[in-house]
Amino acid sequence: MLPVSGVELVVREPTGADELFVAETTLAPVPAVLELARRVGGSAAGPLDWSRLPATDLDAVALTIRQSWIGDAIRTDAACPGPGCRERIDVSFGIGDYLEHHRPRRPRGVTQAPDEGWFTLAGATARFRIPTVADLLAAAAGRRPAETLSGRCIDAPEISRALARRLDHALSSLAPSLDDLLGGTCPACGQDVTMRFDPIAYTLIELRSTFSGIHWETHALAAAYGWAEATILALPRARRRRYASIITDERTGA
Ligand SMILES: [Zn+2]
Repeated sequence: MLPVSGVELVVREPTGADELFVAETTLAPVPAVLELARRVGGSAAGPLDWSRLPATDLDAVALTIRQSWIGDAIRTDAACPGPGCRERIDVSFGIGDYLEHHRPRRPRGVTQAPDEGWFTLAGATARFRIPTVADLLAAAAGRRPAETLSGRCIDAPEISRALARRLDHALSSLAPSLDDLLGGTCPACGQDVTMRFDPIAYTLIELRSTFSGIHWETHALAAAYGWAEATILALPRARRRRYASIITDERTGA
């Protein structure tokens, strides 16, 4: 279930064509994950308008795809910033726990406005809505992303500093960012360490590495059996890999 929209996301297994897409796409991370989600994901309840999803839900989409294809446990590491230390610090957590920890809640003083998707703040002449994927893409395409985003999602005669702070707080409660900081302690020097975790960038890098054998596997099966590329790419991942490993074993005489 996506945290903010409540959409029940279903993810199918990747085909070889999906793996090729991940390996070869030159799209920026957000549009790349959006395109991947369109290919392999959907809502259990019917057609899904991806561009209207809350932007933070796209991070949850990336993590759900990762959970479905690779598993729940994430293990990553960072270099200790302690003077002269540079020790590798392991950080591990579960995707389910991470999403639970970032669960949205409605803060006091925030009410749903009559227009769908808009909220009001008690005592302020302002309405706002949670930025969607479409807002995010529009902001990224412009020269002033922050202004574009607030122009689309905040409706107020003027935005004072106090109002900006309240809006910030309301948004981070209604749609907590999953692009967040992780904390840890260096085992060598005891220094507290924070590192940024960007779900979309992380998922793409990991999937690219997981799918890095797709060109070789396709080549090996085509050469060994004379099958067409499309036939090979349509095979289930596990079967394609099994054939490729048999071919490797034969070549190496194992
Ligand atoms: Zn250290």
